[in-house]
Amino acid sequence: MGLCRSIGRNGILRFTVYTRLFHAEVMQSSSPANTFDAVVLGGGSAGYAAARTLAGSGLKTAIVEGADRMGGLCILRGCMPSKALLQAAEVRHLARHAATWGIRVPEAALDLSAVMRRKDALIESFAQHRQAQLTSGRFSLVRAQARFGDPHTLILDHGERLTAAHIVIATGSTVAPPPLPELAQVGYWTSDEVLAMDRVPPSVAVLGGGPIALELAQLLARFGSEVTLIQRSARVLREFDADAAQALEAALRREGIRLMTGTRLTGAGRCGNRKFVQFEHAGQTTRIEAEELLMALGRHPNLAGLDLERAGVRVERGRIVTDAQQRTSQAHIFAAGDCTGPHQIVHLAVRQGEIAAHNIARPQQPRAFDQRLLLQVVFTDPQVATVGLTEHQAHLRQIPFLSASYPFNDHGKSMILDVQEGFVKLLATPGSGEILGGTAVGPVAGELIHEITVAMAKRMTVHELAAVPHYHPTLAEIWTYPAEELADRIPPMPGNAP
Ligand SMILES: Cc1cc2nc3c(=O)[nH]c(=O)nc-3n(C[C@H](O)[C@H](O)[C@H](O)COP(=O)(O)OP(=O)(O)OC[C@H]3O[C@@H](n4cnc5c(N)ncnc54)[C@H](O)[C@@H]3O)c2cc1C
Repeated sequence: MGLCRSIGRNGILRFTVYTRLFHAEVMQSSSPANTFDAVVLGGGSAGYAAARTLAGSGLKTAIVEGADRMGGLCILRGCMPSKALLQAAEVRHLARHAATWGIRVPEAALDLSAVMRRKDALIESFAQHRQAQLTSGRFSLVRAQARFGDPHTLILDHGERLTAAHIVIATGSTVAPPPLPELAQVGYWTSDEVLAMDRVPPSVAVLGGGPIALELAQLLARFGSEVTLIQRSARVLREFDADAAQALEAALRREGIRLMTGTRLTGAGRCGNRKFVQFEHAGQTTRIEAEELLMALGRHPNLAGLDLERAGVRVERGRIVTDAQQRTSQAHIFAAGDCTGPHQIVHLAVRQGEIAAHNIARPQQPRAFDQRLLLQVVFTDPQVATVGLTEHQAHLRQIPFLSASYPFNDHGKSMILDVQEGFVKLLATPGSGEILGGTAVGPVAGELIHEITVAMAKRMTVHELAAVPHYHPTLAEIWTYPAEELADRIPPMPGNAP
C-alpha cells in the first residue's frame, strides 16, 4: 500500500492509503506539493521558532514532527513541568518553616496526586497552545519521523519523500546513556520519571551535579525523600564560579541533602528491593543504597536515525557543528537548539531557530548568534543565575576584569525574607567600567539577573548602573552595592559616567 498526501485547512498534511503502484510513483519523484522552500525537522522550541520565521518571510515551509504528542521537551518533559513541581516544593518548604515569621502551620502535608494534577493541567494548556501554533496553517505540519535520503531529501517513516531547498535540523536531545553498563540492568529514573512520579521514593541517589540534577534533588528532598547527590567533579555546577557553587552546596546541605563530590563511579547493583551505586570518594570505596537511582548526568543531541552522513552534515563530539549563523557544513542545511549543544537552554533554542530562518530567508543580511549575553539559571532555592562572563572564564580567556560582590544576608529586604546564603557579583572592564558579567545566588536570582542582561545589552558601565534609581526595599537594589564599589574603584572618564 502507498500513501498520498493532501493539505487540510489547518495545514496538517493528511495521508490517505492508496495503491502500491501510486506509492511507487511518489517514492521516485517529488511533486510540487511535497517540495518546499524550507523544511524544519522537529517541532519543539527551536523548530517552531524557525518555521514561524520562515513562513513569516513568505517561504513555503513545512515542519516534520515525529512525536505522538506535540509540544516539545520544554513544555512536555522539561522546563515547565519541573518548574511547576518546584513551585509546589517551595510552598511546602515555606509552610514547614513558617514559624520563622511567627506563623504556625500545623502540618504541611504533601498531596502528590493534587500536585501532579495541577502540573498536568498547566502542561496540557501549554501544549494545546503550542499545538494551535503548529496547526495554524502558516506552514504545513507533517506528522512523521524523518531521515535524510540525500542533502535535499527527507524520507518519512511511511515512505513518502519531501524535498527542500533548505533544511533546518531541530531534533532536540535525549538522556545521555548511563556511564556504567550495570546501571541499565539495575534500572534507574531519569527526569521523565520524576516529573510523572505517583509516589515519592523514601530515598534517592542522584547521579550528576548540573542544573537538572540539583533542581530534582531539592524537589525530591522537599517532597520527603532522603537524597544523596553524587557528583564526579570537585563541586557542583562546573560552569559557574566556585563561590556560586559553594553557596548553593551550603544551602542544600543545610536542608539535609547529602552531597558527595569528587567521586568516581565504579559499580551499581541491587540489594533486595533497593539499588546501590559504588564509587571512590576521598580515597575510599563508598556504597550508597537507595530506593531509586536518578540518572541526571546530562542529555545528548538527538541525532540517531537521521542518516546525517547522507546529507553531508558534519558532527563532532556527538553535536551538529554550526557556525554563528547556525549553518552546518552543508551551506543549505542549518541546525538549532539542543541538537547543536553544548548549552541546552530553551531561549537559546528559540533564538538559534530564528537566526537560522532569517539567514535562509535573507542571506544578504546575515545575522549571527551573540554569545556575549549567554544566560544560565538554576531553579534551586537559592536560585543561581549568571549572564556574560564569569570570573572563571575571564581567567581562562585572560580577559582583564575587576569584580565586586555583596552578600544577601546583609541586605534589608533579604533579611526580611530570612535569606541566609548567596550574593550578587559584577565584573567590569578596569578601564571603562563596562559591565562584563553578573552572577546572583539568592532569592529570585533568575529574575534579578535580567537587570544585568539589559545593562549589558546596552553596554552600560558600573557608573551608569549605580546611578539608576532602585526602589527601597527591594531585592533588585542589591545590584547597586557592587556597582557603586566598582564605580569608586574605576575613575570616571568621558563617556562612562551617567
Ligand atoms: C527536566 C528538564 C528541565 C529543563 N529546564 C529548563 C529550564 O528551566 N530552562 C531552560 O532554558 N531549559 C530547560 N531545559 C532544556 C530545554 O527543555 C531544552 O533546551 C529545549 O526544550 C530544547 O528545544 P529543542 O527545540 O532543541 O528540542 P525539543 O523541544 O526536544 O524538540 C525536538 C523535536 O524534534 C522531534 N524529532 C526528533 N527527531 C525527529 C525526527 N527524526 N523526525 C521528526 N521529528 C523529530 C521531537 O519529537 C521533538 O518534538 C530543561 C530540560 C529538562 C529535561
